[in-house]
Amino acid sequence: MARIPDSEIERLRSTVNLVRLIEADGLALKKIGKDWACACPFHEGDHEPSLIVSPDKNLFHCFACGAAGSPVDWVMRRRGVAFRRAVELLRGMVDGEAVAVDVPKVAASKIVAPLAASEDDATLLAEVIAHYHATLKQSPEALDYLAKRGLDHPELIEHFQLGYANRTLGYRLPMKQVKSGAAIRGQLQRIGVMRESGHEHFAGSLVVPVVDAAGQISEVYGRKITSNLRVGTPLHLYLPGAHRGVFNEAGLIGQKIGVKSTYCHSRLVKLPFPHGQTATH
Ligand code: ZN
Repeated sequence: MARIPDSEIERLRSTVNLVRLIEADGLALKKIGKDWACACPFHEGDHEPSLIVSPDKNLFHCFACGAAGSPVDWVMRRRGVAFRRAVELLRGMVDGEAVAVDVPKVAASKIVAPLAASEDDATLLAEVIAHYHATLKQSPEALDYLAKRGLDHPELIEHFQLGYANRTLGYRLPMKQVKSGAAIRGQLQRIGVMRESGHEHFAGSLVVPVVDAAGQISEVYGRKITSNLRVGTPLHLYLPGAHRGVFNEAGLIGQKIGVKSTYCHSRLVKLPFPHGQTATH
């Protein structure tokens, strides 16, 4: 992929009016001196407006959670997208409009709320899987990979909640310096989706949740989608801990073959795809 020139990033940072961008995101700004303030969307329950926007510098900063940055950072955090995608979105906003500062309204469904630490690990894991699922649907590289494997049917992607981990999970978390940010990172590490280094366990992988009969995610399988990996990088990943199998009840329906092939071990995720493909590689 071609590198985005620094001049282009600088152009977007300076031409996109951050105040207008935030307003277009549906947030009410209040004038305070020469700056603007609003309730911070990046941490829970901000009743005092903690997020300050400085029009002079075209930067934002939240005093409570530490979220800060330029219009590019705003889009990355709000939409949960990677840097390149945020630049593309801003470019579309700027070049698609007659007036550079007029940013089209963002559909409410496109705005992503921060993940919150949950009472139980299963709920948080389900939220992470939902984030990966949403990410996959807007990641051409992951959709291309699925197409190459003959697995790009929209119903299949929905049904199996296929996802893609592209290192954007961190943008959905409160900053690690604050209590809630540290707590949720600890919980994600315990679940196994985040490593101690802070990196995502499944980074760069297609993510397949394995759901048991009770609807709980009992295992997660990851498959790297690029071939230019460092020597020794495993192509296949699982959550740490014991691998649990699931009994693939849906796979039994309408099958004439033996029960053996419908048993779905976590190391051999055999899923009933519409055209008879299986995800075993
Ligand atoms: Zn905040």
